[in-house]
Amino acid sequence: MAIDPGHNGGNASHPSEIASPVPGGRGGTKACNTTGTATSTDYPEADFNWAVAQQLKQELKDAGAKVVMSRDDNDGVGPCVDERGTFADDADLMVSIHANGTETASTKGFHVIVAKPGSSDAVEDDSNRLADSMSEAMSGPFTPNSAYGKDAISRRPDLAGLNNASVPAVIVECGEMRNADEAKTMESKSGQKKYANALLQGIVDWY
Ligand SMILES: [Zn+2]
Repeated sequence: MAIDPGHNGGNASHPSEIASPVPGGRGGTKACNTTGTATSTDYPEADFNWAVAQQLKQELKDAGAKVVMSRDDNDGVGPCVDERGTFADDADLMVSIHANGTETASTKGFHVIVAKPGSSDAVEDDSNRLADSMSEAMSGPFTPNSAYGKDAISRRPDLAGLNNASVPAVIVECGEMRNADEAKTMESKSGQKKYANALLQGIVDWY
């Protein structure tokens, strides 16, 4: 089981590393990473992603799963996006945890991103199934963002982490950090646990 807590904890101190170009997975290049977003009270996305990932990791381990993480701390920088999908080539699946930063405060809800096309037909099929089960599990406690259709699933060709993944992979944008209600949930320990529980449910359902 592979978990990628999106972005890095050390954004501010490493601007040049974050901006340096790496392969984007479709022939072009992309910046090593982006800084991610933040709530209106400046709670960084990287911290939220990290907190939910730690919680999910513990729950998966308690359930007997072997867990690999894309990064071991929330301080420095890396790996870059070209390696965010490849750090666990023998995992059953990869879940990348993010939160979105739409500027309008009224925008609310989670959405799931899956690569189209996938790195192979088999990976694409299994990734689509993973996107479906994640969307369904998240729909219980959280609101689907209707901007991405009724299942809140976005199919994109341009995300290096997903393009380079050799295992079924999705990005879960857990919610909108500029939305006051969701920001409050994201900043609280109990809210982070609720996100981790929903992600765990999606993984279990996929199996
Ligand atoms: Zn992000």
